Amino acid sequence: MRESGKPQAKKRILTGDRPTGRLHLGHYVGSLKSRVRLQHEYDTTLIVADLHMLTTKPGREAIELIAENARGLVLDYLAAGIDPDITTIYLQSAVRETYELNLVLEMLITVNRLTRVPSIKDMARAANLSDEEMPFGLLGYPVLQAADILLPRAHLVPVGKDNESHVEVTREVARRFNQLYGEVFPIPDVMIGEVPTLLGTDGQGKMSKSLGNTIYLSDDEATVNRKIRGMYTDPKRVHADIPGTVEGNPVFQYHDAFNPDVRQVGDFKKRYREGKIGDVEIKDALAKAINNFLEPMRERYRAYVADAGFVDQVIMDGTERMRGVAAETMKEVKKAMGLSGSLNRIARAAERRRKRLEKN
Ligand code: ATP
Ligand code: MG
Repeated sequence: MRESGKPQAKKRILTGDRPTGRLHLGHYVGSLKSRVRLQHEYDTTLIVADLHMLTTKPGREAIELIAENARGLVLDYLAAGIDPDITTIYLQSAVRETYELNLVLEMLITVNRLTRVPSIKDMARAANLSDEEMPFGLLGYPVLQAADILLPRAHLVPVGKDNESHVEVTREVARRFNQLYGEVFPIPDVMIGEVPTLLGTDGQGKMSKSLGNTIYLSDDEATVNRKIRGMYTDPKRVHADIPGTVEGNPVFQYHDAFNPDVRQVGDFKKRYREGKIGDVEIKDALAKAINNFLEPMRERYRAYVADAGFVDQVIMDGTERMRGVAAETMKEVKKAMGLSGSLNRIARAAERRRKRLEKN
């Protein structure tokens, strides 16, 4: 039952990616799949987080790649089934309230708390930064993310497992703001994808661009076949008749995630454990399943690429829309804090002086 005659506003989602390259299967199962599914139910905003990219990669070289990488990223969104008519996609650096809210939120969390966010150390390590080289802004990564999430006053944040601790920071900062200044922000919930962490093709850790163990949504059939053929499996199985381990084996994690033929997957696992099947048969079936999964995306790629400038228009429209939303929120923030009042009081006094001088 609605409380009034007015239609209830949809709840909001905010999530996104850094424009550092194309999206891979890990991004898909960790977050993108949920976005595609929920975009009709929620008012969904996707952020192309280029400022976040600068936390580990400042400098002109990275900045010059933003436009091209943003296009690739958004093309991946659309190919995966994001509908540009209902989902807002925007460029983070083009919305100035991002910088403003980030600064306000920085006051609401301790350095000590941020040093305990596990992914910060991981990111520093991946960027080859020692403790002494930790940038202030990298420590503040989750605070900037909190600004992104709170600008559209999001209720839900679909992300992969490695991002869970960041959303926790957002929740803490939002609670603190509301406590100090009044209820402006909903406390957003995190939603972890169907596969919290997809392993890389090397089986050594999560799928990640920097580790070179990815299958991209934009890979063609031959590339997928080659990558799957070279995939890591149970190393103790030097012959097909040696019983193998299914748990933690990326080949089976991918089968579970991308092969809709559950009976076939069950049969493969059984025979693998018994040492009654060769790796090639399992891998060929996997390559086929992943190619089937990617095929509709390839068709959408072709359609969107043929329409030159379409992706750019989507980003422009989304950024324009987000600017409006962000300005509205920042107005609320400043009102709640009483910040706009200070300048108003000063302006009124200055005005009184001007009038006084005019009379004399
Ligand atoms: P990469 O780690 O490949 O360099 P990235 O660090 O640029 O990618 P993020 O911005 O960290 O990508 O991640 C975007 C989203 O995808 C996040 O929600 C993240 O949790 C999710 N994600 C990334 N890799 C995986 C994975 N292997 N499994 C599940 N989710 C993932
Ligand atoms: Mg990452």
